[in-house]
Amino acid sequence: MSFNIPGGETATGRVIGEGAYWLGGCLSASAEGQEVHYHVSSYLVIGSKASILVDTGDPAHRGTVLAQLERALGGRTLDYVFPTHPEIPHAGNLPFLLARYPSAVVVGDVRDYALHFPEYADRLMAKAAGESLDLGGREFRFLPAYIRDLENTLWGYDSGARIMFVSDGFSYIHDIPAPDEDDEPVHLPGQCRLLSSEMPAPPSVEQAAYGTGRALYWTKFVDVSLAFQAIEDTLASHPARLIAPAHGNVIDDVDSMLKTSLAAHRKVYEGSRL
Ligand SMILES: [Zn+2]
Ligand SMILES: [Zn+2]
Repeated sequence: MSFNIPGGETATGRVIGEGAYWLGGCLSASAEGQEVHYHVSSYLVIGSKASILVDTGDPAHRGTVLAQLERALGGRTLDYVFPTHPEIPHAGNLPFLLARYPSAVVVGDVRDYALHFPEYADRLMAKAAGESLDLGGREFRFLPAYIRDLENTLWGYDSGARIMFVSDGFSYIHDIPAPDEDDEPVHLPGQCRLLSSEMPAPPSVEQAAYGTGRALYWTKFVDVSLAFQAIEDTLASHPARLIAPAHGNVIDDVDSMLKTSLAAHRKVYEGSRL
């Protein structure tokens, strides 16, 4: 898959709650003669005492992310950077962020990071699922990644704007051709900062299933009902107004998306057992 970087519309972030910002950029490609985009999002949460950036964005968007951050922070500093897992779209801008914000520390499951960034070994603070940070007036809690990509993936939850951050989980294929034979969750130019309810149509179970089976291959072999039960239990104790994925539109119709996603995972699982 090859994607370019579009300019313009994603250069600006979107305020998605009090002190909560949707940042990052999109990569772009051509599919059947049509331009399509792929989100690589970051999220900033600002409390009265501290701020945290969830995922660093892609190095291709380094300038965009740094400019968006500066604007959103409005003269304050960045205190915490939380890459949900050590892959390029999620952790690739870490050295630039740590250089720009000298008091920022990296939080999360940082077990291997000292090997990649030995110069920043003293700025890594391990946080396990269940631990939290007091941002001042709101709490940021680290959650297990119920749908996970890597062993050390974590999700997060902001009690202030009631947002659950789900990394590679909950990214949907919409009814748009994707480049090559890929099934990356793409959207059209102009849809970059839309909430799911603002999109022309929600994804069908078939579209969600197609993406699920390819992107999270293990879901073919594991009945994810237990994972979805855990997500529902977590939402009961941590009610979410929004679900914020790294590679899809921010979800504001939480209940119906959960149902679609669970149905999709079941379909993939049952299909693989025929
Ligand atoms: Zn990812
Ligand atoms: Zn876009």
